[in-house]
Amino acid sequence: MQKYSSQELMAIEHKYGAHNYHPLEVVISKADGIWVEDPEGKRYIDMLSAYSAVNQGHRHPAVIKALKDQADVLTLTSRAFFNDRWPLFARKLAELTGKEMILPMNTGAEAVETAIKTMRKWGYLVKKVKADKAEIIVFADNFHGRTTTIVSFSTDPDGHDNYGPYTPGFKIVPYDDLPAVEKAINKNTVGILVEPIQGEAGVVVPKEGFLAGLGKIAKKHNVLLAVDEIQTGFCRTGKLFAYQYEDVDPDIIIMGKALGGGVFPVSAVAANESVLGVFKPGTHGSTFGGNPLACAVAMAAIDVLIDEKLAQRAAENGDYFMAQLRLLQKRSDKIKLVRGKGLLIAIVLKKSAGKARQYTTALKTRGLLCKETHDWIIRFAPPLVITRADIDFAMEKIREVLG
Ligand SMILES: *Cc1c(COP(=O)(O)O)cnc(C)c1O
Repeated sequence: MQKYSSQELMAIEHKYGAHNYHPLEVVISKADGIWVEDPEGKRYIDMLSAYSAVNQGHRHPAVIKALKDQADVLTLTSRAFFNDRWPLFARKLAELTGKEMILPMNTGAEAVETAIKTMRKWGYLVKKVKADKAEIIVFADNFHGRTTTIVSFSTDPDGHDNYGPYTPGFKIVPYDDLPAVEKAINKNTVGILVEPIQGEAGVVVPKEGFLAGLGKIAKKHNVLLAVDEIQTGFCRTGKLFAYQYEDVDPDIIIMGKALGGGVFPVSAVAANESVLGVFKPGTHGSTFGGNPLACAVAMAAIDVLIDEKLAQRAAENGDYFMAQLRLLQKRSDKIKLVRGKGLLIAIVLKKSAGKARQYTTALKTRGLLCKETHDWIIRFAPPLVITRADIDFAMEKIREVLG
């Protein structure tokens, strides 16, 4: 294959690829653990982890072995037949989540769609809501994916505008506002869909008790609580799932991203039979959902999280990283605040500091790949296999740029 330079590749993409992203000007052609490399051989620490889809680190040997071994025997059957991987993955994920049943999909948005369909169907069949009246409560500044139904309740104009007519049946209330939720509930409410921490909004951490409060409200009004753990799940915030910081037992857990171990889109919804049991043959599905290759990869991805104690490491190293960033904040005239949990961290810039992009570009030049979210927030979410020495190295660069 002909070798292209970074400049050439970016020019080709600009000409032939739709411009639905605004990537940092770096081309990645190799990766290993927390490190990525461009075609010219320059190395960078990945501080984004593909939006938390690479929690296990790039090309984790156990995940790649599972991928290769499975590719040698069986890749796709569709669910028209049983295969010998999906049952074992379903059992493993059910045991991990403490839920009775799993429904497998591919992308995060598909899993969110599955949760929406679950809540609606449960509403009609179990709660006996009148036909086409079901309502789901969602939150301002949410991010749940890009399908037409999901963007119907996005409050971000970029993600939302010009995609109408929009799917009705969603009530948007302010995040971290329990009274607003209680007020929005009526006899047609079937569910609440929430991110335990709002990742895309800029790592917005709600007050302690918010999730637990939602759980109580949901129970009181016979409404399902669905947590979108696509970005916060699988050890990112220092626990297996971010909701586990609170005394709450959500009815539906939505998973994606790191479930695929950074190699493959794998998503799923977990719930008890009283909820997921609403689906009968033919009522929902996906050609690739539960495919043997995805299941093999996901089982290995889960094992890595457990075997390498990534939740504990994310908690410890996240505390360390955040403490260092807060020390820097004290001496910096650019940083307004530092927030996050585990290794999902954001720096919010002061207005006077200008746009985040100039800083992510400067960090890139120094070998650190971070992505801004909005114009004034920089997110740090490295693979969870990062070490304290790596964080010290990264902090040197961050101090140079933001000190
Ligand atoms: C990334 C993300 C999604 C969408 O996942 P895709 O795989 O991109 O469809 C949904 N919810 C949250 C919280 C996410 O971070």
